[in-house]
Parts: sequence; structure tokens; C-alpha cells
Amino acid sequence: MTPTDLNKVGDRHHVVVVGGGFGGIQCIKSLKRANVRITLIDQRNHHLFQPLLYQVATTILAPSEIAWPLRQVFRDRKDVTTLLATVAGVHHQNKRVLLSDDTSIHYDTLVLATGARHSYFGHPEWEQNAPGLKTLEDATTIRRCILSAFEAAERTDDPELQRAHLTFAVIGAGPTGVELAGIIAELSHRILPREFRRIDTNTARILLIEAGPKVLPTFPQTLSDYAARALSKLGVEILLGDPVTACHATAVEVGETIIPCETIIWAAGVQASPAANWLQADHDRAGRVLVRPDLTVPRHDEIFVIGDTASVNDAHDNHVPGIAPAAKQMGAHVGGLCCRDRPTADIVAVCTLQDVVNAAQVQRRSS
Ligand SMILES: Cc1cc2nc3c(=O)[nH]c(=O)nc-3n(C[C@H](O)[C@H](O)[C@H](O)COP(=O)(O)OP(=O)(O)OC[C@H]3O[C@@H](n4cnc5c(N)ncnc54)[C@H](O)[C@@H]3O)c2cc1C
Repeated sequence: MTPTDLNKVGDRHHVVVVGGGFGGIQCIKSLKRANVRITLIDQRNHHLFQPLLYQVATTILAPSEIAWPLRQVFRDRKDVTTLLATVAGVHHQNKRVLLSDDTSIHYDTLVLATGARHSYFGHPEWEQNAPGLKTLEDATTIRRCILSAFEAAERTDDPELQRAHLTFAVIGAGPTGVELAGIIAELSHRILPREFRRIDTNTARILLIEAGPKVLPTFPQTLSDYAARALSKLGVEILLGDPVTACHATAVEVGETIIPCETIIWAAGVQASPAANWLQADHDRAGRVLVRPDLTVPRHDEIFVIGDTASVNDAHDNHVPGIAPAAKQMGAHVGGLCCRDRPTADIVAVCTLQDVVNAAQVQRRSS
């Protein structure tokens, strides 16, 4: 079925959901009993459980354990059509989603749940030397880099080169950076030592580099202190207070210091998807669309933006963070009101990392 054909099917209210992440999936689940037809568009064919990406990046889990084909997720939902396509824009006057292959799809209601990607603070050229962790491809790239570094260290007799191979720099001490640094340390110091003969993987340096004054910058001080102590116990070196000034193929520059290092992982900045550009809507510094309390876009009652792409405050006027439970709550809210009145969203963004891991385990057991 081509996108053009999709426009002709039936005369029910057509909800187009862009993005099969946490927000989009939950929205469609909440539309189960609505008398609408739904088209889910995603540029990837799978839903990805991003909170466990770092486990794939460090060989603990296989890619298939954290990704589920979107077609399979909705195979029993006859009201849902899944489309593998990349959205390139929105023509809101004509109510059409524009796809990268120059076709378009008409919508009555549009839900944009396109998430976020890395931001290199104006240095996109750093990406080739310092990949971020957002997709399965990113995770397998990082995994290859880490494992190749150990293999290269095992093969060289040059101590300096060996040192560089065995130095891993994680940039950004938010939750992703903390998790990654911790698990690379576990891999190096607990899992791999018995598998190599010429190198001692215990000597690997794992650097966690943060421009701010503490790890987990947005968390309470007690949690930051706890995380810093736990990381130090695992053998992670924490460098605080100096920004990264360059990422080279064989070194990272931190302030004035050049550290030879062959594996650099970027966990520092996040930029929302370009939904704000598509809609020419107001956005915050991270590019998130400033939505109304009911998650619609100002002047567009028929367009919702949810999840990591939306900027919204909760009932206590706190900014809702870019985490999975918040995206799911926004999706549930929009699904619930797509065909009803529109009360204010009551987003309670409370979640621990353990909640997320528990959810993944339950999901794995039941699949
Ligand atoms: C490494 C990592 C660890 C994390 N750990 C945690 C954690 O422990 N706890 C927690 O709560 N949260 C965590 N998060 C954050 C959480 O994953 C996000 O907040 C959540 O995924 C946001 O959901 P979303 O639906 O807004 O976007 P996403 O889940 O990112 O989904 C967006 C979807 O949109 C699709 N898409 C994007 N652009 C287009 C386009 N142009 N055309 C078509 N499709 C498009 C993408 O392919 C994707 O499927 C983590 C994130 C990462 C990257």
C-alpha cells in the first residue's frame, strides 16, 4: 500500500502518529477503543527500549533483547497501519505529513513523538570520533569500538599505544554517562581479565568527563555523591569542571589537557527532533516544542507533540524531564482525549532507573 493509497482508506477520523518510541506506542495503545484509524510512521522498523542500550553497547545484552518489530507489536490491531518512512516536514495548512520520498499523508489528528538525538554543542564534526548512544546502530558501533580497543591493546608491544587503547573516555556525567562508565569499568575489571593473556584489562582507564561541578548534575547532591562514590569503587576516574574542547581519533582534549585515548563516547548533549522546525513552532533551547498544557501546539488544536520532543511543565510547574515514563504518560493522555474533550495533562514524571529495568525484564519475560 503506497502512502497515496493510505489517504483513501475509509472515512474514519485519521490519527497519524509519528514515532514508535515510548510516547507513540502508548498513544496508540490508548486509542484501542476509539473509532479512528491510525497510521504509525517510523523511520525504523522497531520499537527500542533505550534505557537498556548501554547493556547492548557493552555486550551484556543482544540487540534483539531490547528491540521489538513495530509490525509485530500491532499485528492484532486492525485499526493500525504501520509505515516504515522518514518524516521530513508537516504542511499544517493542508493537514499533511511530508515524507522524505516526496509523498505525503493526510491526517485529521497528528501526534508527533519523534524523540531526541545527540547534540555536539556546535561541533558536529566530533561525532565521527565520539559516537553517542541513541540507536541500536550506535550501541553496536560502541560495542565494536570497545572490543576492538582491547584486541588492539593485546596485539601491540608499544606501551604508550597500549595505554591509549586501554583508555576509554565517556563525556557527560548524566544518567547515560554514569551508566556507561560504570559498566565499561565492570567489563574491564571484572569480566574480561581472564580472557586476555598479554594485557591486564584491570589497568584500563575509564574516564568520566563532566564540565559541571558534579556527576548527575540535575540530581540532588546526596545522589550525586552516592554515584561518584560507587563509580570510584568500580575504578572510574571522574574529571569534573573542565569542558571537552576537542574529540580527535586518538585523543580527547579536556580544557588544556590532551589525553591519548582511542575510544570516546558522547553522552553530553541532547537535541529534540526537528518537529519545531516542521511546525514553525516556538521551542526551548534544546529544540523542544513549547506545547500547551493539553500537549497541543499553540494555534493547532489537531497537532500534539509528546515525549522528548515536547517542552511542558507539570502541575507543580516543574519541567517534565525527557524520560520514558513521562513520554508514556503523555502518549496515554493524548490517546485518551483524541476523540474527547481536552483536559490539562497531569504528567507525574516519577521514575527510578530500577523501575525501567524492572519493566524491561517483565516485558522480556512476557515476550
Ligand atoms: C542511552 C539512554 C538511556 C536512557 N535511560 C533512561 C532511563 O533509565 N530511564 C528513563 O526513564 N529514560 C531513559 N532514557 C530516556 C528515554 O529513553 C526517552 O525519554 C524516551 O525514549 C522518549 O520517548 P519518545 O517516545 O519521546 O521518543 P523515542 O523513544 O526516542 O522514540 C522516537 C521515535 O521516533 C522515530 N523518529 C524520529 N524521527 C523520525 C522521523 N523524522 N520520521 C519517522 N520517525 C522518526 C524514531 O525512530 C523513534 O522510534 C534513556 C535514553 C537513552 C538514549
